[in-house]
Amino acid sequence: MIEITAEVRAAIDRAAGDMEFAGDECIEPADGLIHCKKCHGSRQTVVPRFGGSGYFMPRRLCPCQQKAQEERKAMEEQRERMESVKRRKAQGLQDRYLYDCTFSNDNGQNPVMEKAHAYVEH
Ligand SMILES: [Zn+2]
Repeated sequence: MIEITAEVRAAIDRAAGDMEFAGDECIEPADGLIHCKKCHGSRQTVVPRFGGSGYFMPRRLCPCQQKAQEERKAMEEQRERMESVKRRKAQGLQDRYLYDCTFSNDNGQNPVMEKAHAYVEH
């Protein structure tokens, strides 16, 4: 973000009249930009117009919106990873009864399981 001079502040204040706010937003008196009521982070920045005079104030995500976006992205990645595991399991284990055959479900009766554990560990 550029330095907010008197000229920039005047442009911000002119543009503020056309802005629409969400319920969790307010104008910060110190810079005239839209801020988040929750984290007080800026939801707007100032950029000089390319090849001309004046400025525009595009929206941006405040820190709590960025965090929420990252969490949604991580959850989506986790969901996709689990879908991938499920697909691979379905392709690799044709018999459904084998789905429950896990080390945690093993009763320790089968001597071959020792080799299976050694295989996985190494
Ligand atoms: Zn916020």
